[in-house]
Amino acid sequence: MSLTEFEWDTVNCARCSLCKWVDPWELTSERFAKVCPAVARYLFDAYSCQGKMDVALGLMRGELEFTESLLDIVYKCNLCGACDIMCKRSRELEPLLMFKALRAKCIEDGQIIPEHMFLIDSLKREDNVFGEPKSKRGAWAEGLELKDINKKKAEVLFHVGCRYSYDADLLDILRGVVDILQASGVDFGIAGSEEACCGGRAYELGYQGEAGNFAEDVQGRVKASGATTLVTACSDCYAAFKYTYPLLGKELPAEVLHITEYLERLLKEGRLNLTQDLGLKVTYHDPCHLGRLSEPYIPWEGSRGAYGRHTPPKEFRRGTFGCYDTPRNVIRQVPGVELAEMERIREYSWCCGSGGGVWEAYPEFASWTAAERIEEALSTGAEALVTACPWCERAFKDSVVESGAPIKILDLTELVLLAAGDGKKKSKE
Ligand code: SF4
Ligand code: SF4
Repeated sequence: MSLTEFEWDTVNCARCSLCKWVDPWELTSERFAKVCPAVARYLFDAYSCQGKMDVALGLMRGELEFTESLLDIVYKCNLCGACDIMCKRSRELEPLLMFKALRAKCIEDGQIIPEHMFLIDSLKREDNVFGEPKSKRGAWAEGLELKDINKKKAEVLFHVGCRYSYDADLLDILRGVVDILQASGVDFGIAGSEEACCGGRAYELGYQGEAGNFAEDVQGRVKASGATTLVTACSDCYAAFKYTYPLLGKELPAEVLHITEYLERLLKEGRLNLTQDLGLKVTYHDPCHLGRLSEPYIPWEGSRGAYGRHTPPKEFRRGTFGCYDTPRNVIRQVPGVELAEMERIREYSWCCGSGGGVWEAYPEFASWTAAERIEEALSTGAEALVTACPWCERAFKDSVVESGAPIKILDLTELVLLAAGDGKKKSKE
């Protein structure tokens, strides 16, 4: 998508500032009223969604040129989509798509920051975002004797993703997922070192062509494997499969489920039993990529006429159909667990700080954003912050280590595993 496709949006942004705040009807307190980490952290309007509309328009009209400050504004953005949802409460604009087109324009014009250069080089050379050897991608599964989907058929292809594949601190979570799948008798396989990045990050950084190549790679693997379902525990990968791939015209030939959706199914089918009373008060963080950003792609082709009217009428993604209820349904089935909600939840969720290449390029901004969320979690009185994305877990775990905040960080699968106890063993027997 080219930036010029969004000129109407940038001209007709009402400069109303709604993109900075939680919907006034849903607002609970002033303390947690903001939705945009970028403008909350850097304060100048230019960092907000509204500001980026001005920046993009200025570039398109030749009134602005690339400078270090301009790139700072473009890249200090988590692409979390909170502004996009808020804008669509009243306007029919596409800020988030415009941001991605703006980044693609930066790449086209050779305006890339060194941290992202490293990232994209790593993706091109090693198929992952960390600069780690591709050959080590499957090392986490050593000794587990899991089915190799490249050689044997399986009903379910378990896509691991870059973060879980290479982050040693999260290895227990990943192995826990495997434990649950095995205990529930799921016929699944992994691609091991043949697995590649989903390409979601490449798309976010503005490398649309590279993202398409990764999508084709996953498409080919799913097709060759004959798997009817693809399950992933990574929210970033999930959003790429559910939204970015169809946007690029590269739908996967299989049902795509996040692990939380698959857990709900296993529980419903009685293949997994939660028997242990955990006696724990938790709060739940909606990962952006599992929530508002996973809302399915809605195809539309047409044009804008007078007053910006869409012909034919266009249906917008307004944050309504993200995966919000499923994780909560699973949490509510865990015996002895009380769910205390934060103020900014579901489509208004505050980002963990990791998205859009911010974690890699601006660690201070990423960690400030995560700390904000930890503070909100603490305000509920919860003993644990539960989430369902390895990027969020990394950000929150680092934040808690740094601040010493008295709260545990748990993946939803860890909570389920703890509660499965005997139920899990029973299914294994
Ligand atoms: S909410 Fe939308 S229309 Fe209003 S300032 Fe933000 S981007 Fe512009
Ligand atoms: S995507 Fe997120 S960080 Fe970027 S401008 Fe919108 S709300 Fe702010």
